[in-house]
Amino acid sequence: MASDRLAGRRAVVTGAASGIGAATAARLRADGAQVFTADVQGEVDFVADLTAPDANARLVDAAVNAMGGLDTLVPCAGISAFHPLEGHDDAYFLRVIEVNLVTVFRLIRDAVPHLKAAGNGRIVTIGSTTSSFGDEGLCAYSASKHAVLGLTKSVAAELGPFGVTVNCVQPGAIATPMTAPAFSDMPEFRTFWENKAALRRLGQPADIADVIAFLCSDDARFMSGHGVWVDGGAMVRH
Ligand code: NAP
Repeated sequence: MASDRLAGRRAVVTGAASGIGAATAARLRADGAQVFTADVQGEVDFVADLTAPDANARLVDAAVNAMGGLDTLVPCAGISAFHPLEGHDDAYFLRVIEVNLVTVFRLIRDAVPHLKAAGNGRIVTIGSTTSSFGDEGLCAYSASKHAVLGLTKSVAAELGPFGVTVNCVQPGAIATPMTAPAFSDMPEFRTFWENKAALRRLGQPADIADVIAFLCSDDARFMSGHGVWVDGGAMVRH
């Protein structure tokens, strides 16, 4: 349901051409925020491969120019990765870390002066259930998502005195273009996650976007440094 609870907020959402990022941009707008969107492709305000060394600094400049300031960051851009340890080459591992972790670090770092100036900044990073657990074939992805949670906690400690809250949403299995190939190629994988969730279904992008919007709102003003599981109750079951 739309509201005006984010009126006055000026947000950057990355990965906004698809999946969770697209749903988040729509949700933040529906709640009254100005949103500046970025992705490597698609109908967004800023198109770039965010792993380029200066891309996040340019994104911050463009967003501040377009909106007159910046107080909210939701770095959703990411890639999935599955590879067994044997034959897992350095370039593949480093690419996953660069996209899923280093771009998040750079966006936050490059936006710090604006977040401090805002006085009530919000950062919501996107972890995963693999921010807390590992699994076969997920060494690069899980390492990147554990690190995003660690980054979140340290940034929360450092920016808290400036009124900035920093939290990490940890989605379960969500039906997005990222997961679509695996769910269609391996129906048993889809069924596994549907059955593992206490709610007995996959998540939808809006299930995550709605929690992100809450964390960006004043209702979440005393909440910082946490990983927030949004997994339909999957990980409380064994
Ligand atoms: P998605 O639909 O694939 O959206 C991710 C977007 O990020 C895509 O548009 C992608 O572009 C873009 N992107 C990838 N690399 C980029 C780069 N270097 N620079 C700029 N943009 C880039 O995936 P999603 O499922 O919404 O995932 C969003 C976030 O949620 C990710 O961080 C993901 O790890 C996390 N997550 C997802 C799930 C899930 O089950 N779906 C679960 C836990 C966590 P391309 O399509 O061209 O690559």
